[in-house]
Amino acid sequence: KGKSNGFSSKSNQMSKPSGLTKPTGVSKFKPPFKTSESEPTAETKNGKSEIDIVADERLKGIDPAMVEAIMNEIVDGGKDVSWDDIAGLEHAKQVITESIIWPMQRPDIFCGIRSAPKGLLLFGPPGTGKTLIGKCIATQSGAKFFSISSSSLTSKWVGDGEKLVRALFAVARAMQPSVIFMDEIDSLLTQRTDGENEASRRIKTEFLVQFDGCGTNADDMILLIGATNRPQELDDAAGRRFRKKLYIPLPEYEARRSLLIHKISKQNHCLTENDIGHILEKTNGYSGSDMDGLVREAALGPIRRLKGDILRISVEDVPPMALQDFSAALTQVRASVTERDLDLYLKFDGKFGSAG
Ligand code: ADP
Repeated sequence: KGKSNGFSSKSNQMSKPSGLTKPTGVSKFKPPFKTSESEPTAETKNGKSEIDIVADERLKGIDPAMVEAIMNEIVDGGKDVSWDDIAGLEHAKQVITESIIWPMQRPDIFCGIRSAPKGLLLFGPPGTGKTLIGKCIATQSGAKFFSISSSSLTSKWVGDGEKLVRALFAVARAMQPSVIFMDEIDSLLTQRTDGENEASRRIKTEFLVQFDGCGTNADDMILLIGATNRPQELDDAAGRRFRKKLYIPLPEYEARRSLLIHKISKQNHCLTENDIGHILEKTNGYSGSDMDGLVREAALGPIRRLKGDILRISVEDVPPMALQDFSAALTQVRASVTERDLDLYLKFDGKFGSAG
């Protein structure tokens, strides 16, 4: 687990509405929560039922099939994420808490020049926690989390991308407060216009219209988070609209330590402090997801060492994970980000990044 930074989920979470009655006869929709255990299925966090949402006049003219697809595939009802689940990134956590979470929690105080930006760009290497941060912002501010990748607008939703964008913003408005997380935003708001086909151009135009619409109504509580590994490919339209641009860098030594300890804490291992220090020295340049891959690979080591019939060995026979397993894994799982990429991120951060 990451070190507690004082921004724990408990102190930041909005209280959930109580005393709501569950509507009956919700037949049209499958429950929007994929893995709900404690959450009610037919009520949203902001207290509206799905029936309220369907009836919401902001959804007039929107294809109900689209609304249903959004509820089932784009609304993310997975596990809540707290700041403590995210290792390192102290600077980003602080900037986001002050400029995004507090205004979403207390719009009465954070109005006018203190109002939250409607767009936040998270840029940096892949696998560094950008999606986790998006989910965490939604959790902390009691907002619905919509998660979609830009490339799926043109591939998976082929032909319907433009309609989907319109429906997505309409549903987000009906269910607000909402956080829309758009991954690979560079593929939507790209500088490269040659080769851009008509459909992509229309999706982009619709997206910009909707994005601007969020900014014109001060009462709308919709935050658009764009994530990208290629910030230098974004066009000027994107640059202007994302008021905050935050660099999400590779994990430093201490963050890698948190990640490693968190991962191995659930495993049988015999790593000493010295061993852990050795692994951390060797993983300079690894992303969070590289660290994840490394531990997974190392976890296979003890089983390979057994060389027995997998069907016959008992759980107690599996030896603890040892340094040798990590040494072997380090030859298999390498840092996925190159020095050249890091240079590009630093340059972009120096030019456009939000210092605070
Ligand atoms: P990104 O959106 O930047 O590509 P993700 O947020 O999807 O990366 O992270 C991918 C996975 O890597 C996560 O599910 C998590 O297991 C791990 N991870 C990456 N960065 C962190 C971090 N800072 N703290 C905790 N886990 C992380």
